[in-house]
Parts: sequence; structure tokens; C-alpha cells
Amino acid sequence: MFITKKLPQRKCIALIAHDHKKEDMVQWAVHNKQMLAKHELYATGTTGKLVEEALDRPVKKFLSGPLGGDQQIGSLIATGDIDMVIFFWDPMEAQPHDTDVKALLRLCAVWNIPMACDRSTADFIITSPFMSEDYEAIIPDYSGYLKRNIAAE
Ligand code: PGA
Repeated sequence: MFITKKLPQRKCIALIAHDHKKEDMVQWAVHNKQMLAKHELYATGTTGKLVEEALDRPVKKFLSGPLGGDQQIGSLIATGDIDMVIFFWDPMEAQPHDTDVKALLRLCAVWNIPMACDRSTADFIITSPFMSEDYEAIIPDYSGYLKRNIAAE
């Protein structure tokens, strides 16, 4: 069973980049400034500050990722308030908040949120025709899960 969820024309996009990927994120954001101007930007603290400066536009900033920012974004994914995530995580360095990173990847899969973990994927997403129109995302209907029988056997 599935239900649909509308991702509106003007999308809420979350940006997160680990330290060695922040330059990539800023370059990518500058390159796609025109398209990003049509959407709302959210970000973890440091990433948001850098993107805000580079694009000279407001970005809704949360706490720095390791201090809870990843989880703040995760919470908005769970409530349906983030439509897509551009998350340049660093595959070459262990992170102190590895569990939060994993949780974010998982929540995007739970809610079928488009997620890019590298620049190529981000380029494909940002140039999709769905970026300029409403999109009906098909997500699993979790009501069966919520009504599951948990009575002791
Ligand atoms: P930061 O957080 O943008 O505040 O550096 C990113 C992260 O999750 O590591």
C-alpha cells in the first residue's frame, strides 16, 4: 500500500556538507544559484553560513551538524517539511556524529526524499524538470505498521 505526498513547486531543500566537502557545496550552490533562488534553503549551521555568504541570500540555519543540526533536519523530514536533501558527507573520514549521519540517510529512505550525496547526483537532481513543478512522491503507507499487533504472545 502506498500514499502520495506532494513536493511543491517551491521546494524546501536541506544542505549539509562535512568539513572537507564544504568547498564542494559552496561551488555547487554558486553554480546553481539561479535554480536555488526558486526554492527555500535550510542547512546545518556552518554549511548554512558559508552558503548564505556565497549566495548572498538567507538560509534557514540550524545547529552545527555534530551538535544536533543533522537531527533537527531529520525531524523536519519526518514531519514532511523538507522536500529534498543535498548531503555531501565525507567518505574518507570518520565523523564523531556518525550515528546522526546514518539516521539522516535512513529517514530520507523512509520518506522517499530525493537525496544527493555527491555533486553528480546533486547536478542530476537540480536539473530535473520536477524542480520547477509540483511532484507527487509515492511513499509507503505506514498505517499497517502503526496498527501492528504488539500483544505479548
Ligand atoms: P556543519 O554540519 O554544517 O555545521 O558543519 C555539517 C555536519 O553535519 O557535519
